[in-house]
Amino acid sequence: MPKVQRTTEEWILLSISLLGALAILPFALLRLFNGDWLIAALDSFAVVAMLVVFVHVYVSGRVWLMSHVFAFLCQLVLVMTVMLRGAEQLFWFYPAALAVFFLLTPQLAVGLVGTALLALFLLLWQQVAVLHLAAFILSGLATMGFAGIFAWRTKAQQQKLLSLATLDPLTGAGNRRALEEKLLEAVYHFQRVPLPMSLILLDLDNFKQFNDNYGHEEGDRILVMVCKLIEKRIRRSDHLYRFGGEEFVVITDNTGLREAGLLAEELRKDIAQANISERQVTISLGIAQYHPGETGYQWLGRADQAMYRAKDSGRNHLCICAGQDDQLALTDR
Ligand code: GH3
Ligand code: MG
Ligand code: MG
Repeated sequence: MPKVQRTTEEWILLSISLLGALAILPFALLRLFNGDWLIAALDSFAVVAMLVVFVHVYVSGRVWLMSHVFAFLCQLVLVMTVMLRGAEQLFWFYPAALAVFFLLTPQLAVGLVGTALLALFLLLWQQVAVLHLAAFILSGLATMGFAGIFAWRTKAQQQKLLSLATLDPLTGAGNRRALEEKLLEAVYHFQRVPLPMSLILLDLDNFKQFNDNYGHEEGDRILVMVCKLIEKRIRRSDHLYRFGGEEFVVITDNTGLREAGLLAEELRKDIAQANISERQVTISLGIAQYHPGETGYQWLGRADQAMYRAKDSGRNHLCICAGQDDQLALTDR
């Protein structure tokens, strides 16, 4: 399997933090050289903070907290620089505002940049000519407006593309591509934080016959209903995917084999007892816990073998793949 790719958010934060540090570094050195200690200390702090963010994101791949810290620091350093050096430093407002709009949700960005703009206004209104201040505030508001509209539209478009690329259009569950990415990401994450995680593969029983008897449309409706039942039962931290026609996968983070087995049994019962069609709908399930060193496909393959044993055992069953050598365990019906 290829290595997990960095997300767009990671690339943005890595680029902005590195570029920011490189842009401020010459000023920090110049001010140190001139003995301008206070502003040199502030610039040095900004450079070090940006480099810490860069290294942290590069190593951990985690962006949420660092994006917020970075955005807040940008605005704080900007206001303090203007406080120390006056209106001549105002041009930093524009790149700092754009950085915040790239990193945070449009609403949060408007709140944070708006607060910085207000702080700058309060700092400068007695020092700067009214016309000059009005021009700064208006151009600041215009920058916020343009950046806000751009960020909002980009987010909406990103969301739409993401849904099209990762969701199954019939059931709304994650599609096969999303499953493959989740498997990669889960294995990659396990290498850093080895917490137990399990996978449940489930397949509708005799579904071909069901389609033949009741029609494809009714079959589609059953697939949607089954997904709804699964989503109702699993936790928010669990992930549901449509693996193939009438096969689904649930990946449960932080869950050992026993807990996953209990969840699978609940799913089996929920569906067998649900009144979703004239004829009883049942599923067979295979469960496997991730073993260190195996690939995502090997993990999925073990759950698949367990699921086929559940089919061989008469369907409406679940089988647990208890070890690498694939032992069998059945529950009561
Ligand atoms: P088993 O219990 O061994 O799993 O038997 P099965 O009939 O469920 O398995 P099989 O793999 O032979 O058939 C799967 C059927 O699922 C074939 C196809 O008609 C149906 N199917 C696959 N995708 C869809 C879909 O999107 N909508 C509908 N209605 N049916 C689908
Ligand atoms: Mg089937
Ligand atoms: Mg099948």
